[in-house]
Amino acid sequence: MAITEHPDSATEVDPASTKVAEAVARARAAFASGRTRPVEWRVEQLDGLVRMLDEQSARFEEALAADLGKPPIEGFAADIGSTASEIREIRKHTPKWAKRRKVSLPLTSRPGKGYIVPEPLGVALVIAPWNYPVQLLLNPVAAALAAGNAVVAKPSELAPATSALLAELIGRYCDSDAITVVEGAVDVSTALLEQRFDHIFFTGSTDVGRIVYEAAAKHLTPVTLELGGKSPVLVDDSANIDVAARRLAWGKWLNAGQTCVAPDYVLVTEAHRDALVDAMEKSFEQFAGGSGTRHNDDFASIVSERHAGRLAGLLADHGGTVAFGGECEPHERHVAPTVVVDPDLDSPLMSEEIFGPILPVITIESMAEAVEFVNAREKPLALYVFADDDDAAERLIDQTTAGGSCINHVVQHLLPPELPFGGVGASGTGRYHGRSGFDTFSNLRSVLEKGSKPDPKLLYPPYSKLKERLIRRFI
Ligand code: NAD
Repeated sequence: MAITEHPDSATEVDPASTKVAEAVARARAAFASGRTRPVEWRVEQLDGLVRMLDEQSARFEEALAADLGKPPIEGFAADIGSTASEIREIRKHTPKWAKRRKVSLPLTSRPGKGYIVPEPLGVALVIAPWNYPVQLLLNPVAAALAAGNAVVAKPSELAPATSALLAELIGRYCDSDAITVVEGAVDVSTALLEQRFDHIFFTGSTDVGRIVYEAAAKHLTPVTLELGGKSPVLVDDSANIDVAARRLAWGKWLNAGQTCVAPDYVLVTEAHRDALVDAMEKSFEQFAGGSGTRHNDDFASIVSERHAGRLAGLLADHGGTVAFGGECEPHERHVAPTVVVDPDLDSPLMSEEIFGPILPVITIESMAEAVEFVNAREKPLALYVFADDDDAAERLIDQTTAGGSCINHVVQHLLPPELPFGGVGASGTGRYHGRSGFDTFSNLRSVLEKGSKPDPKLLYPPYSKLKERLIRRFI
């Protein structure tokens, strides 16, 4: 069941906290009834989500176009279709993942059996951002349902058409008490965070992540924080510069750079810098089909005039050289793909997450300097390496850290379900996708099962010399 906040009729509807309390109470009652636990129920819900995405694909594409000007193919590939694939994969494995996992026991615990029981946690809260508003709400919801939880889900108010559609449809395809969508902005999120949940899964900015973490601490609620930050790209001297340029341009073109794992800045030596920048310009021109990105149906819009204005601000004050691009029409929510060479390192362009189609390129002396550069900053959500020399690539991965990485590509490490996705340090905590998502929403309860016989007296006091010798020998 969907609960919608109508900003214009605040006096006619219950305040946010009442709506939220109702939604949580309904989800809690559904969980307490025990009906979310059987694997059959879980599979039915996952089937419902897949059916919703398949049958309503056109409406989702329209909503994504209305909210973000997403080209239909991007809406399908990066949101609707990829989410349906991920949920199908979760559905296929849920019966196996939900089973007890037998472990082998050391001699000292025998005879007996040891196993892990993946139990649902209870009621999970999922808070989503606006940039991939289908995927980033439904993937964690699906993982929570697969693990047998009830869920309260809050889509982003900045993607209002998609939020309304999710609120309208989820209840039609799934158990509408066990999966409740609560629409709204900060007041609704704040009211949600006052409630007690059994897990909070938050995707969004690092600043709001801090607020969520603090609220969760009050109830000692476990959290998954999927946050953002600046994701660096290290272009080694051995890299194939044309391929690197094309893939970097693609990573910035996709959703107009509004992707949490979009390349945020590039480190490259002077020997290859200009060739890389020229090749990127050519790639963007080819992607745009020779007609620029303004009014181009293949290039997404910036989410709001305010965000486009923020990007214009980054371009107004960076102290570097604009190699190409630079056009901003905030009122049209358009910012052209732009490369800025060697901006001031303390400018907002190099201290804030860019989250748009602007890419700073920083000249470095060596890859050792690049490593020092990234290691002196917050641990990134993604770090990309371009190198044809395998040893160089391995060295760069070994000498740095990140939530995830691609070698010779960008963004795509989040596609294989077998690769757990998440951040590290300031870019997030916890993992999901595939079985890691199932485990995130489960209590992996350890059980040691013993028979009442035999009952050796070895461990019990009084501790004789013989017992002590044996214990010291075998433990
Ligand atoms: P945001 O943090 O502003 O909002 C995310 C959610 O939190 C929204 O639902 C919003 O309503 C809610 N929210 C906003 N302010 C709040 C507050 N004060 N208290 C409680 N809840 C609040 O993020 P956004 O602008 O929607 O998304 C962009 C950010 O998200 C970027 O930093 C990006 O890197 C990050 N992101 C991360 C991932 C990931 O998987 N790690 C994916 C997408 C986006």
